[in-house]
Amino acid sequence: MASCARNSGEIMNETHPKWVEAGGEFQVPFMLAARRVLQGKPIRCPKCGHADLRFYFHAMKPALGQGTLWVWCPACRTKCHLPRVTPGEVPQVDPFGGLSLEEFAEIEVRGPGSFQDRLNRLWNEGVLTPSYKV
Ligand SMILES: [Zn+2]
Repeated sequence: MASCARNSGEIMNETHPKWVEAGGEFQVPFMLAARRVLQGKPIRCPKCGHADLRFYFHAMKPALGQGTLWVWCPACRTKCHLPRVTPGEVPQVDPFGGLSLEEFAEIEVRGPGSFQDRLNRLWNEGVLTPSYKV
């Protein structure tokens, strides 16, 4: 079965509706799924089931391997982020890995554009593609 996440023009469309925080009955399933995205295989969105979850991990405390994990579904636009995660090995190259905490906070909060849109665009461009999918 072909992945709709990879080829759908709808997902590539950047004028899409807003991102929604995972909430209500989907909050717990989404969070649990989000915790599994770094384990080395694609995880289907537990809310809509139409795409694999996308993710981005940024080490806030590189010495401890601790950081924040952003997880989102490109199909239903549900997102969440998990602070203080210590994932061990991350199957992804961090394009913002060289930034200081201040520099990172600057782009996360101030943009340009929403950080979530930027992450999704980076994924579309192949920058955040996890190594297990290549
Ligand atoms: Zn979804």
